[in-house]
Amino acid sequence: MLEIAGLQVQLDADAGLVRAIAGMHLALTRGETFALVGESGCGKSMTALALMRLLPENGRIAGGSVLLGGRDLLDLPESRMRQVRGGRIGMIFQEPSTSLNPVMRVGEQIVEAIEAHTELRGKAARAKAIDWLARVGIPEPQRRIDDYPFRLSGGQKQRVMIAIALAAEPDYLIADEPTTALDVTIQAQILDLIRDLQRERQLGVLLITHDLAVVSGMAHRVALMYAGQIIEVAPAAEFFAHPKHPYARLLLQALPEAARRDAPLAAIAGTVPPLWLEFAGCRFAPRCDKAMGHCASTPPALTEQGPRHQVRCLLYSQPGDALSPRETLSP
Ligand code: SF4
Ligand code: MG
Repeated sequence: MLEIAGLQVQLDADAGLVRAIAGMHLALTRGETFALVGESGCGKSMTALALMRLLPENGRIAGGSVLLGGRDLLDLPESRMRQVRGGRIGMIFQEPSTSLNPVMRVGEQIVEAIEAHTELRGKAARAKAIDWLARVGIPEPQRRIDDYPFRLSGGQKQRVMIAIALAAEPDYLIADEPTTALDVTIQAQILDLIRDLQRERQLGVLLITHDLAVVSGMAHRVALMYAGQIIEVAPAAEFFAHPKHPYARLLLQALPEAARRDAPLAAIAGTVPPLWLEFAGCRFAPRCDKAMGHCASTPPALTEQGPRHQVRCLLYSQPGDALSPRETLSP
């Protein structure tokens, strides 16, 4: 299990101290795809960067832990962390062109991952790299292995990134907007590929996306983030059928049936509050169509509202009254 417990991330910005992640808990098990979804700037990517210890220079982890097999990754020396990163936890990002080394042949980049994280060396590693290119659907892998990245299309580059990430035989994969830069057809192919590899290798996948269609097709569980906090977590089918948080309801309502396939998160009136603010109450209150008098002054806690279903909203509970819903929304 990969577990984030009480994670707090702060950034120094011109406007002041930004609390990018405010006390996050999240557990990812092998064999499941867990989607982290939310508008841009809500803290999804920051969560991934923090857990890989790849925060930008103005960022720091201000509290919490990231447990992998009982060890806190935040305490590991950087040399050990390098083995975890790309070894036990693979990563793929939105822009394959910026992650691939432009002056290294694609095969060498896969071989590098294989040699760094498995027992294979030399010819055996190269043969394995060819296998991987074939496995991720690159035609003529024997020939393409010696190409430089610029010879590949965007979709092929993303396939190569997936090959590099999985060649190290990780237990977990972090995929941050893995298909956002690709056209719809290629997007679907790449998502199918990730789903197949996830099943085949019992990977735990943390899928970061702003696209609910991607979530509904891929995820076993969903966590919805808003302004640096998780505000709803549920099994994916439950989340789509019975969303509870007013923000989740607005997002899902605003997706017209026909557009559900590939619509980004719907526009909801108002904007995400800047995270250098101190929040007295609910962070969503200024945009909430169900806001009550005390919402602006009482911070809601994440409370259990069904099997594996947690919600951060005062409609469902009073502070400290985690298990008895005070009031429920009509469906
Ligand atoms: Fe809306 Fe209040 Fe719930 Fe926040 S706590 S989401 S403002 S109802
Ligand atoms: Mg992002």
